[in-house]
Amino acid sequence: AKAKQGCTWYLYNERVNRSAGSLADLEDELRRALRRDDLELHYQPRLCIETGRIVGMEALVRWPHAERGLLAPDEFIPMAEESGLIVPLGYWVIARALRDLQSLRESGVGELHMAVNLSFRQFQDSQLLATLERLIAERGVDPHWLEFELTETAVMRRSDQVRGTMNALAALGVRFSLDDFGTGFSSFVHLSRLPISLLKIDKSFVDQMAARPQNGRLVRAMIGLAHDLGLEVVAEGVEGAAQLGQLRRFGADQVQGYLISKPLPLAELRPLLDRGHRL
Ligand code: C2E
Ligand code: CA
Ligand code: CA
Ligand code: CA
Repeated sequence: AKAKQGCTWYLYNERVNRSAGSLADLEDELRRALRRDDLELHYQPRLCIETGRIVGMEALVRWPHAERGLLAPDEFIPMAEESGLIVPLGYWVIARALRDLQSLRESGVGELHMAVNLSFRQFQDSQLLATLERLIAERGVDPHWLEFELTETAVMRRSDQVRGTMNALAALGVRFSLDDFGTGFSSFVHLSRLPISLLKIDKSFVDQMAARPQNGRLVRAMIGLAHDLGLEVVAEGVEGAAQLGQLRRFGADQVQGYLISKPLPLAELRPLLDRGHRL
């Protein structure tokens, strides 16, 4: 509704214009950044609780912006999803992650899984499967080391196309994990119908685990159910040693979080990986 006073209307209008303008600018800038290869990936290691070894890492995109500094994904991924830019952005991420994985393997770092986030929107690209197959083949990476993280919302829209693409990739050896588990509405029934190998328990559960016994029991139950379905369990956002101890007692398989390491550029992560994967 139009404001009564011209002044208010003007201010409102001005604000909308300004924010709309800057969003469109950001979109153009992202398009340009993609063309110029101006994005970065940081990697956050995942630790196997039982062996204490780093068994994988998650690729997380960053955008070093000339004026705004290093932009976190939350500042541009929603816009990229909205505008469709997530499709080329997603391919850039996968291509870069495969390249880095390959270079790690060539330098003898060895058995590491590379997890890449996949937005639901990327499944709307009819070329997704063919492009992923091409990117994997071009790098000569064993698909077995590649993992895609999907959120519950993406999985819940399990159209035949999503399921078909997932099954085809799973047949190549690619793994899927269910990201942010517990924050959406997925049911274990759906999980058992899709080729999902891992479940990532969201940070919010890990944070609340120690506060009350029933929170801990909830996490323990999630882990037990996941194991019954043959899924591995990764706990996300683990920041404290007490959390790690609790997760170990509950039988979680892997942990990821600041306790182990923040997401880092590959060069900075390397020393951690070179120490025989041990911390
Ligand atoms: P996510 O997939 O749930 O990734 C985990 C996020 O939690 C990352 O934030 C990571 O830096 C942060 N994190 C990890 N451990 C800890 C911890 O111990 N404490 C705290 N406070 N935070 C922790 P980030 O890198 O800002 O990414 C945010 C989200 O952006 C991701 O959430 C993911 O949904 C999305 N994203 C990142 N990269 C990509 C990408 O290449 N493609 C797509 N589609 N989405 C991406
Ligand atoms: Ca993720
Ligand atoms: Ca997550
Ligand atoms: Ca998240």
